[in-house]
Amino acid sequence: MKRMVVLGAGESGVGAAILAKEKGYEVFVSDMGEIKPHYAALLDQHGLPYESGKHTAELILNADEVVKSPGIPDSAPMVKALIEQGTPIISEIEFAARYTHAKMICITGSNGKTTTTSLIFDMLRRAGLDVGLAGNIGNSLALQVAQHDRQYYVIELSSFQLDNMYDFRADVAILLNITPDHLDRYNFEFQNYIDAKMRIIRNQRHEDALIYWSGDPVLDREIEKLRPTATLYPFGEEVAQNVAYVERGQMVVKAFTPLELPVELLSLKGKHNQYNSMAAAITAQLLHIKNDVIRESLTKFEGVEHRLQYVATVRGVRWINDSKATNVNSCWYALEAMTTSIVLILGGKDKGNDYSEIDELVKQKCHTLVFMGLHNEKLIEHFSALGYSPDGERRYIDTHTLADAVQACYDVARDGDTVLLSPCCASFDLFKSYEDRGEQFMKAVKNL
Ligand code: ADP
Repeated sequence: MKRMVVLGAGESGVGAAILAKEKGYEVFVSDMGEIKPHYAALLDQHGLPYESGKHTAELILNADEVVKSPGIPDSAPMVKALIEQGTPIISEIEFAARYTHAKMICITGSNGKTTTTSLIFDMLRRAGLDVGLAGNIGNSLALQVAQHDRQYYVIELSSFQLDNMYDFRADVAILLNITPDHLDRYNFEFQNYIDAKMRIIRNQRHEDALIYWSGDPVLDREIEKLRPTATLYPFGEEVAQNVAYVERGQMVVKAFTPLELPVELLSLKGKHNQYNSMAAAITAQLLHIKNDVIRESLTKFEGVEHRLQYVATVRGVRWINDSKATNVNSCWYALEAMTTSIVLILGGKDKGNDYSEIDELVKQKCHTLVFMGLHNEKLIEHFSALGYSPDGERRYIDTHTLADAVQACYDVARDGDTVLLSPCCASFDLFKSYEDRGEQFMKAVKNL
């Protein structure tokens, strides 16, 4: 009997363990942290042995194969030891895919993954297809394969998941964009992160599809360099070479029977969401979903929480929760999408950010910046150089709690402004997660 060790008992790890047992492996689950009660209960229920709060070498290093949670870096001592002794380490998606014949629709990119994945899922569901949502959202792929296999999966893939994928093959791969993120996990080498993202095209064949944003300098260069085998379906600004584009206010998609839709009718607003919408519509057309269904989804889809989510209008000021903007590029798109003057909340755990990318839009649109983090020094330094000061016309306010930040915004926002929480940073200095940050923000706004 082969021994499968699962490192990390979160959604993906527990799903992988359940599937591995079902497929006849001897399974052991190990988590350095505390296992959430819900997952511990699931492991118990399936009679799966596990340990919590430690990694016991004798129980791990004898594995034939390891499924590693995407959250655990290769620099973790136990992972290093496994790599050194040559034990194969795979991701939960790689493992689960061995046991299903479903069509895999996989979405990656630095920003827009969850939005696009959810939108595609919405289209497939409206079309009546037997579809599951997996990857970073919803139930793990492994659990679905074990308990209720589907004909299609729409899977959000992070670079960390792609790192440990080898034989997996995406029937449809979507590459939304690549901008620097998570560099702390990639030796501070942008190319390493790019290489991880590009793994999505591994094993693709000519009959498979690669949908990508042509216009993204990194993607254009990589596609030129790697010459993918899959059939290419680019979308972007240029009318000539793209399968989907926006022309004179109309979104045009022609992967199959051409679809035209006025951009103003798209339910997801902002340029970035036009790209996400195009990627989703191309996918749906390739799956022969009717244009009427695609149109209905594009105009009715309600969006995903914490992504440019409207919270409330208080005394003429619109408040928007974009807590999921945990890098600079996603904040750029949020600023770009705004049509009013802005009070912008920035800050949190900096991941090696270069804020100069948003300088132009900040200067154009933001009269006040509210910094909300444990350590705001880097923000203060950067935006002081851009002309913001504690008492100038372009102003910054230094705060260290959410309550103070929201109050500061309330005090300075003028009728017609938007207060935008789009912090460019991870949330872990003051919050449990970006969801926690977004929820606390919305609660505070509703209490104003
Ligand atoms: P991900 O799952 O890749 O983190 P989300 O859909 O959760 O992406 O969106 C994250 C943030 O990025 C949001 O703040 C959103 O406004 C912004 N965003 C969404 N789509 C794009 C895109 N195509 N390009 C750039 N930014 C985007």
